Amino acid sequence: MEKIKCPKCSWKPKPIENSWICTCKHVWNTFETAGQCPKCNKIWQDTQCLQCHQWSPHIEFYTTLNGLLASELDNLINQEIKKEPIESDNKN
Ligand SMILES: [Zn+2]
Ligand SMILES: [Zn+2]
Repeated sequence: MEKIKCPKCSWKPKPIENSWICTCKHVWNTFETAGQCPKCNKIWQDTQCLQCHQWSPHIEFYTTLNGLLASELDNLINQEIKKEPIESDNKN
């Protein structure tokens, strides 16, 4: 399971107790739906911390996911760079 916390104050939302309110007045836990309102389908790319009341990109609350994505991207970029020049000259 991902570790979820506010990137600004490190507050950790609780899955059941904490809830957010959409512009359509629907109340739900935004981390259960990756920031999408289940009623009107509005996607909230930014999420407000219930403790420090600052807005941060929803993705930045997922600490482990960010780390994973970053290392995946690093791997991809490194592979792309290495592939081309080395293999073509190796015949004979
Ligand atoms: Zn809504
Ligand atoms: Zn916060």
